[in-house]
Amino acid sequence: MVLKELKYDVPELSKGYAGKTLYINLDTLEIKIEDVTEEMKEKFIGGKGFDLYLMWKYLPKDKRTKWNDNENVLAIASGPLGGTSNFPGSGKSIVTGVSPLTGIIIDSNAGGYFGPFLKYAGFDALAIQGKSEKEVSIYINGEEGKIIVDDAEALPSETYKIGTILTEKYADDERDRREISVVSAGPGAENAYCGCLNFSWFDLKRKYVRYKQAGRGGTGTILRNKKIKAIVVKKRNVRTQGNNPADLEAVKKVGRKHTDEMIALDSKQNEMRTLGTVHLVPIMHEFDLLPTKNFKYGRFDNHENIGKEVYRAKFNKGPDPCWKGCAVGCSHGVSNFECKTGPYKGQLVSVDGPEYETIAGCGSNWYVDDPDAVIEVNFYCDTYGLDTISIGTGIGFLMELYEYGILNKERTGGLDLSWGNAEEALELIHQIARGEGFGKIFGMGIKKLKKYFVEEYNLSEDEARLVHDIGMESKGLEFSEYMTKESLAQQGGYGFALKGPQHDEAWLIFEDMVRNNMPSFEQKANALWWFPMWRTSFGLLGLCKLPWNDIVPEDNREFATGAIEKDGMKVPDDLADPAKIPEHVLNYVEYYNAVTGKNINSVDYIIMSERVYNFQRSMNLLLIPEGVTYRDLDSIPYRAVGPVTEEEYLSREDEYYLKQLKEESEVDVTNLSTEGKMKELRKIREARYEKLKKAVYKRRGWTDQGVPTLEKLKELGLDFPEISDLVKKHQ
Ligand code: SF4
Repeated sequence: MVLKELKYDVPELSKGYAGKTLYINLDTLEIKIEDVTEEMKEKFIGGKGFDLYLMWKYLPKDKRTKWNDNENVLAIASGPLGGTSNFPGSGKSIVTGVSPLTGIIIDSNAGGYFGPFLKYAGFDALAIQGKSEKEVSIYINGEEGKIIVDDAEALPSETYKIGTILTEKYADDERDRREISVVSAGPGAENAYCGCLNFSWFDLKRKYVRYKQAGRGGTGTILRNKKIKAIVVKKRNVRTQGNNPADLEAVKKVGRKHTDEMIALDSKQNEMRTLGTVHLVPIMHEFDLLPTKNFKYGRFDNHENIGKEVYRAKFNKGPDPCWKGCAVGCSHGVSNFECKTGPYKGQLVSVDGPEYETIAGCGSNWYVDDPDAVIEVNFYCDTYGLDTISIGTGIGFLMELYEYGILNKERTGGLDLSWGNAEEALELIHQIARGEGFGKIFGMGIKKLKKYFVEEYNLSEDEARLVHDIGMESKGLEFSEYMTKESLAQQGGYGFALKGPQHDEAWLIFEDMVRNNMPSFEQKANALWWFPMWRTSFGLLGLCKLPWNDIVPEDNREFATGAIEKDGMKVPDDLADPAKIPEHVLNYVEYYNAVTGKNINSVDYIIMSERVYNFQRSMNLLLIPEGVTYRDLDSIPYRAVGPVTEEEYLSREDEYYLKQLKEESEVDVTNLSTEGKMKELRKIREARYEKLKKAVYKRRGWTDQGVPTLEKLKELGLDFPEISDLVKKHQ
């Protein structure tokens, strides 16, 4: 039954923009189409910038909005460069909302076709506020110019089922299925705070609906809390010309250049076209960075069992793009996989993944070396709408508590969560989807679990400290799957990330730890300014970051250091660092200028990101609880900084810890006991983290409490009265 319908004129795109946003209020069933102003484009660019702009517009300013308040806004956008098929990775959607896990703004991106289709259907961004009384679906028909809110009580919420049903429903024939994209979550997202959003596309070759996830921070939980089963968009013939770039030939030229390079170099470098991010498993193991047993260790003896050769044999063959024309084509999957557990037991299913994060989080981190178990976890997390990173890190935490006896069968309702027990971990995941047993408790996420375990089990002071030290969350978000203990810069990369510890904001481990390219605090602070700002740009423009640094020009170092010029171009001073992949940065700047008709350089490009970055940091002040400061929120658990347990210390003592103790301790450590050395090391490492925090805040133009200064806001053109007033209260 149609609950509300609105007809609209589908606009032509101009220089990457549709020029309109769509607002739907599920309390009132109001549907509003609003203009995108020049100021919006100038200051907020698109993508995450537009999402945040709409959140700011609609969130109340006189109260702290919680994730499950009707006022929470779920926003989804593409970006001005989104939806072209010439330049690799131009199909991302970015989602924002007030997160159930962190209570502040989460942003998370996904492939699939939704964002680009939404834009070509007429909307640069979609914002949904309010909460429906009954289950609904939302259909945006970009062919006929119609928005429909439909009764969806009878539809299943499981991702693969609902995606297939709605794709068939709205397609005229089989080919037409490719013109439809569905966003959904699943039953797990109804019972856990780490619900993800699944973004679909129809795989014409394999003839089934496939998915990419906006995994982080519980955006799927918000969707289900609003009683939305799915959001569907339909738009035919989405291609580069339709984006009406200012200079089509220039877009084609730079796109061809970047594409040719991906194709030519991938097989010599990371094999993304064959393996995707799975190639990282052996590398992370080799450099002691692969989270193993809840981030205790960085090496997993059985890593080859869940390594690239095993998945090479299991993955469907050939490049597998999640967006039209992406030459990287890293979205690999497994067809005809037979499930061994749960509601699909004995059935053959198709699985999108696993990617590195799922393998590390739900493989090595659980001490699981069964590649099929990881595939099955991947399948069920997608089906139920659960983030595999939060699930991986969360269950790793439970398994360690089980090892220490803080959890036992009595407390888990009979689950044996010993290391390596994938079957019981899967049962826990099924419990989440059913909303029962220990699964329901686990669904609250690590941050709340820490408090729950301490209080519910009346833990001793030592046990409580252990629980806090080993629960791998910051700001309430579970860590993504890289070890940070020996990289101070990456500790900051996680700890000072706006939304919580996710590597899409800063990934500095190699430069810091392996290449030792940033020995001073100032150099680390500089990197923790430039890289997060650079990476923010992908979310503003509708782009995937993998084509930036997963395949690099063969003469990257020579160009970056000024040893050579290319196409008459010299590396600009601001990019003279091989880690920035300067030639690629210049490609992106050229691409941006060619679409929008602007003429900016690489410094301007970073500033446009810095503006939105500071906007998000300022907006979060609306949401953080009274008495909590950014300094508190930017903390990380000690497991991310150094060794918590003796065995963990001893496993790296010679390689890392003794050297640091000898160089930096003010006391003679030679005669200290292991416990004494660990205490001394902790003192040193925690002080270094705090020192880095101070340096980063300063570099970013923030107060020593981590709040953007009024001067910084002015410099960025963000000194709107409401923002300035908010920030002033926290100076
Ligand atoms: S690089 Fe991979 S994840 Fe990114 S758009 Fe291309 S296929 Fe999708």
